[in-house]
Amino acid sequence: MIDEIVLEDTKRITNDFKHHTFRNKSVLITGGAGFIGSYLCDTLMQLGANVACLDNFSTGLIENVDHLLPKKNFRLVKEDVSNFEDGERFDFVFHFASRASPEEYQLHPVETLLANSRGSHRMLELARKNDSAILFASSSEVYGDPEVVPTPEGYLGNVNHLGARSCYVEGKKFSEALFMAYHRKYGLDVRIVRIFNTYGPRLRGDSIYARVLSRFILQALGGENLTVYGDGSQTRSFCYVTDLIHGILLASGNAKVNGEVVNLGSPFEVSILDSAGKVMKAVGCEPGISFSPLPEDDPQRRCPDIRKAKEILAWEPKVSLEKGLERTILWFRKRMKRAL
Ligand code: UDP
Repeated sequence: MIDEIVLEDTKRITNDFKHHTFRNKSVLITGGAGFIGSYLCDTLMQLGANVACLDNFSTGLIENVDHLLPKKNFRLVKEDVSNFEDGERFDFVFHFASRASPEEYQLHPVETLLANSRGSHRMLELARKNDSAILFASSSEVYGDPEVVPTPEGYLGNVNHLGARSCYVEGKKFSEALFMAYHRKYGLDVRIVRIFNTYGPRLRGDSIYARVLSRFILQALGGENLTVYGDGSQTRSFCYVTDLIHGILLASGNAKVNGEVVNLGSPFEVSILDSAGKVMKAVGCEPGISFSPLPEDDPQRRCPDIRKAKEILAWEPKVSLEKGLERTILWFRKRMKRAL
């Protein structure tokens, strides 16, 4: 379903995105029922594209896209990205299919590696045969636990390739290498965006699928203590979803990104403890925190250097963490009310 908050969000993105690059274009979005993928589906539909949404629903939710099902320029394909075959020619492929929550992907390390290797190969072959442009949703995770913060695209990473997070990290790194190989060998138009922590409506906050802010919000709304891992001094930089989608659209509409890697994320670094404080303040609940051990290989700091995105795309995030949290909390409150 689409509620007024997501609708307002996607309208704001389409108002800001003046180009008509996608009108009547055929696009494939893998992972289209997920958090970022479904925002892309909604936005591209509003921009007049014909959208095929591919998802195996391992973590994506039908409620994110069911309102699009009756529309004639929308098609949902329930299939794994590694097996997808299709007769349609796509002008543009957005390859977003992957588990993304550390707690969840660590329970499915093989599937995570395969979505980011076999799945990526499948999508690149599809793009090559159809001469489509293809954008890959890579991740800040390829930098591992960086020694250079803010981290620029040229930083080569500090990664434990055998550790608990390696299935995701190495999957993303392999995909990036494969994308560049297709660019070099076949001249394919490939674009890689390294996405840093993103939040907003539709980010799952339940069980192992949760990411930190959405979990904190659900805990605060439910009157529970917020579960901070470690001492909470580790940092992240949180980008509101509309800013991210805007950056993705700019990257997909700008030929200068062909064969390039661009960081997309918020340049404002905040500790996890401080972000817990901000969530409790925004929810207006009694403060309460339970500390538990820091998971293996949890990066100590994460913050992008976004100079390249500023230069090439004239992009930088606009929504403050306070404003983004307020909207996300409102969305969760409404969703909880509907469920009653
Ligand atoms: N985290 C936490 N409590 C939670 C979930 C996560 O303190 O309930 C921490 C986690 O250890 C990490 C940060 O929040 O340092 C961000 O975690 P998330 O799972 O959102 O993704 P990551 O940025 O690690 O990929």
